[in-house]
Amino acid sequence: MTLPGSPHIAYRGDDLYIEGRSVAALAREHGTPLYAYSQASMLDALASYQRALTGRDHLICYAMKANSSLAVLQTFARAGCGFDIVSGGELERVLAIGVAAKKIVFSGVGKTRAEMRRALEAGVLCFNVESEAELTLLSEIAAAVGKTARVSLRINPDVDAGTHPYISTGLKGNKFGIAHEDALANYLRAAALPGLEVVGIDCHIGSQITDAGPYLDALDRLLELVEAIEARGITIHHLDLGGGLGITYTDEVPPSAETLVRSLLERIDARGHGHRKVMFEPGRSLVGNAGVLVSEVLYVKPGEQKNFCIVDAAMNDLMRPAMYQAWMNIVPCVKRAEPAVLLDVVGPVCESGDWLGKDRELAVRAGDFVAVLSAGAYSMSMASNYNTRGRAAEVMVAGDAAWLIRDREPVAALFAGEHLLPTG
Ligand SMILES: *Cc1c(COP(=O)(O)O)cnc(C)c1O
Repeated sequence: MTLPGSPHIAYRGDDLYIEGRSVAALAREHGTPLYAYSQASMLDALASYQRALTGRDHLICYAMKANSSLAVLQTFARAGCGFDIVSGGELERVLAIGVAAKKIVFSGVGKTRAEMRRALEAGVLCFNVESEAELTLLSEIAAAVGKTARVSLRINPDVDAGTHPYISTGLKGNKFGIAHEDALANYLRAAALPGLEVVGIDCHIGSQITDAGPYLDALDRLLELVEAIEARGITIHHLDLGGGLGITYTDEVPPSAETLVRSLLERIDARGHGHRKVMFEPGRSLVGNAGVLVSEVLYVKPGEQKNFCIVDAAMNDLMRPAMYQAWMNIVPCVKRAEPAVLLDVVGPVCESGDWLGKDRELAVRAGDFVAVLSAGAYSMSMASNYNTRGRAAEVMVAGDAAWLIRDREPVAALFAGEHLLPTG
């Protein structure tokens, strides 16, 4: 039986499988909570972008904050991806697997001096700059280290991506990007600064976007600007349209990456910009549907108003429900032939916000395993140690193979860097 999300995560009879491996068997082998990924899902998702971009000068930069585990980065690096980073930590992570700096773009509103210096020394492809103050500082630092910083300005096109307010980034009043009306002045300034070379323009309007409309609107606004900027003698080599494409958590029907990219390219060509290199920064749409969070049912607790299914995964393992009130599908790893009961699936953390799913119909008993679906993006990468809980282990499945790609974090590691007060 197929489930919404990925064709590689499906039931064989009553057992949930990721590609060729039983999820319950993986949970028994590696313990829970456990993140398990389908590598084929990741590669399929990437291939959808690649098909639309074949024959065109392009770079797909995986937005690694969605899931920055090394084996996930390797999967995309081997398939030819570049990377979009938002911190010095992410830069070190991606350099650690041997990615060429020339395939890395550096985004983010709050780059520090140290991060700029390190990225310049490494030789990243482009800094996506988000303010006038950042332009000034970047130029200063580039001059000081004797390098030129290639820059693109992140434009806030003021379009409504129609998504959750916490993941909408392209509206006025948002902290991200440079306002459309200030863009030209900032390009003129960038072109005049000594340490900078203008190479592109970018935008990123939000996340979990399920409609092509906002992308086309943002593209139109961007192309208007490109024309105005080039009229002033500044060449724009690449258009970077960001990430943000949504996935199916329940009944959302976003366009496929291939369809979305084709319609954007059509618009780019129709407006006479077909000679430019195009870039995308997809995160969620490459990894979201590829992962599940597997958890053991600890207790089933009937309540006066509600029944609770208490599992061993919690908000520290999976923040999305607590942070965005996100709805994520929860299914048994082995189906029971019993009537389902209405219950809230909650974790052991001491917060009422610690829930994974509310009002779910499930037939489960203590000791069963359940899987939270579509947990490949913004899940493990947002995990914390709240309640002094070590972070989950991770497994990558490819066909019949499964590799442990991250050990469960041992409790001793959680306070290894701490210091007691002096005695006396
Ligand atoms: C987070 C982010 C992305 C990726 O967004 P998704 O919704 O995961 O595709 C791309 N670009 C920038 C600048 C981002 O901050």
